[in-house]
Amino acid sequence: MKTYQTATIVLSLLFLANDVNTKSYNGDQVWRVYAESNNDIDAIHQLSHYGVHAEEIDLWQDPTLERPAHLLVPPLIADEIAASLANKGLNHDVMISNVGTLIEDEAKERQRNRIQSKKQARRRKRQTFEGMKDKIVGIYAEYDEIVTWMKELSTSLPHLVSLTTAEMTTSEGRSIYLMKIGRKRPYQKPAFWLDGGIHAREWVSPSSVVFVVSKLVEDYLKGYNTDLLDNLDWYILPVVNPDGYVFTHVEDRLWRKNRRYYASYNLTHPNEMDKICAGVDLNRNFPYQWEKAPEYGRYHCSIVFAGPYPASEAETQVVIGFINERKDDIKAFVSLHSYGQLVLTRWAHTSEERPADVNELDRVGRLVTDAISNTFNNNYTFGVPGSILYSYAGGSPDWAKGVANITYTYAMELRASIGSGFGFLLPENQTLDTGAEIFNGLKVVADQVISQHKHIVVNEEIPPTNPNIINRDSTSSSGQLCPMIVTTFTTLICGYLLR
Ligand SMILES: [Zn+2]
Repeated sequence: MKTYQTATIVLSLLFLANDVNTKSYNGDQVWRVYAESNNDIDAIHQLSHYGVHAEEIDLWQDPTLERPAHLLVPPLIADEIAASLANKGLNHDVMISNVGTLIEDEAKERQRNRIQSKKQARRRKRQTFEGMKDKIVGIYAEYDEIVTWMKELSTSLPHLVSLTTAEMTTSEGRSIYLMKIGRKRPYQKPAFWLDGGIHAREWVSPSSVVFVVSKLVEDYLKGYNTDLLDNLDWYILPVVNPDGYVFTHVEDRLWRKNRRYYASYNLTHPNEMDKICAGVDLNRNFPYQWEKAPEYGRYHCSIVFAGPYPASEAETQVVIGFINERKDDIKAFVSLHSYGQLVLTRWAHTSEERPADVNELDRVGRLVTDAISNTFNNNYTFGVPGSILYSYAGGSPDWAKGVANITYTYAMELRASIGSGFGFLLPENQTLDTGAEIFNGLKVVADQVISQHKHIVVNEEIPPTNPNIINRDSTSSSGQLCPMIVTTFTTLICGYLLR
């Protein structure tokens, strides 16, 4: 037994050896930089987007008058940046003293958790729903692991989960997968769009999407929250930016954009026309108010490069294509990001204009924020990006609202909190709680959509597609029976009953 355990640990460590970032952040610090006026905010933007070291420093968090900027500073230029801040009259202090140490700590925690979760999965038997869940929920999974899990779910629960592959692939040739979750009905249901991982380094976003999928399915199999799959379809894209996500696992933990290379697209830096840089910020690439991107967003080496033209990127086109094919059904759109614990609504490109349904958007948005915050007494803030984060053009939520006309459109910045000192490097042991609080927020939107479309399904006869179908509302319904089945065969039996 001991030999077996040792072999398991060695194999796990060998497996994780591939998952080592080669870009070092040893000695890099993250500073809080305090802005007391709009001039201060402009000065921070000038330094981080146009300064001589703009490509070496990284503005993790934009400043507002209420909240300091978070600025990643490499050790070699730290003195110069500190002097530059002092010259501009800007105060700063250290939020993370060594980013490299935090990344190493994260890698160690992942090793420990993976060994544990794989053991747990083996105990439960891999091909049960619980076994699949143990392998993936509560960890920062790699892209291939997420794809494998999606395929296993759709194969083992075909009556609830299906998988579509986009025709277009990414610039590195990866496929993008869309899950559909919901009980099959012989009529149209309203639908909910949820995506994650559009920004590569925001790992808690895909992990929360995975949590939500797993909870939706598990609850349904146990007879809880059945309305969410009986009367709603979920279109779920766990990782919008697979190339970038993979890059954060193998090369650079803090990469943000996709991985497509651009050489000559450069309007603001004419002397660097031949410089080759990778990546478009996909959340600046959507074709709605794209042209309002700031000047630095036109520079192909900028961390927020909006692309050479709207929807230039395959990943953007895939999201647009998926939604356009289903836009008559999709009534809610939520895109998950990190960090800062915010629920964002209306327009990201402007704080001045308001959509016609602003009151309803805000009403539900506040309920969502309360539901998330009350789960663990962990406060999230609701508002317009221009007021509580920063304005930006070409984002997917603005496109979803402005072009696809989806009613309930929100973006969420998940954990860590601004004051936590973790930034993008949220400890893996917080992923379960993050997923749970976000699920509660999404449920508010889902319940709202279902209540508005209830008339479609009430009192409607459901023609049995299978002679074994059991009416879930009868006294012997599978919805009541399933919670009583406590063996590892729950999935099999419930799956059969619900088919
Ligand atoms: Zn983001």
